[in-house]
Amino acid sequence: MSLILRSWQPPDRGALFVVSGASGTGKTTLVKEALRRMPHVRFSVSVTTRPARSGEVDGRDYHFVTADEFARMVDDDALLEWAEVYGNRYGTPRAPVEDALARGESVLLDIDVQGARQVRRHMPEAVTIFILPPDMATIEARLRGRSTDSEAVIARRMAQARQQLQGAAEADYLVVNDDLETAHDVLQAIIVAELSRRQRRASLAARFSS
Ligand code: ADP
Ligand code: 5GP
Repeated sequence: MSLILRSWQPPDRGALFVVSGASGTGKTTLVKEALRRMPHVRFSVSVTTRPARSGEVDGRDYHFVTADEFARMVDDDALLEWAEVYGNRYGTPRAPVEDALARGESVLLDIDVQGARQVRRHMPEAVTIFILPPDMATIEARLRGRSTDSEAVIARRMAQARQQLQGAAEADYLVVNDDLETAHDVLQAIIVAELSRRQRRASLAARFSS
């Protein structure tokens, strides 16, 4: 089964979706499919100092920058939020997010728990969604299955995953990524429900008011 949105109209006023969760829970997999099905939701491409993994494209998956370039963006207040994750820095460029929201569009951030906390503090209206694994063993298996990281990196990511899972307590929505198709449906249903709120659809509400 999959959500079918054949004649679905985007709202007048978009939302800022913040998807977070521990590494290896399947955030990237879920987010990519949600964006494919909802082309009117923009993905915020982060800047990062980590090297590109094989298959990743600069400007599409991340903007890959040097430590100096990253530091300059922090100094210029050009990042909406940023955090150090596993020894690398990651941040959300501020202007594209603020511009898209000002135009009434929706934006989706795939960021870590520290970043999600910063966004919630500055923008309490953000919709926060936390992706949970069915259990810890599953996270480890997925990190290994992705086979893009070394053993040392995997061990470090497992230790941090336990800590990151505490972020679930602060989120608006929880999605368990056990069966992938179910998780796709649940994430997309959350996005559609949020964008169907009357407050985001003033023109539709006005059309039927007498
Ligand atoms: P994250 O972005 O949270 O670090 P990824 O999306 O890269 O996680 O997923 C990590 C690995 O787990 C990938 O190899 C992905 O294909 C796999 N994966 C994701 N979701 C599932 C699922 N529900 N069942 C099995 N494997 C999954
Ligand atoms: P990865 O290196 O696996 O792509 O990402 C590692 C972690 O960094 C993930 O939890 C991912 O969500 C997070 N991340 C990616 N971009 C950003 C960002 O712009 N800001 C923050 N705070 N975290 C990010």
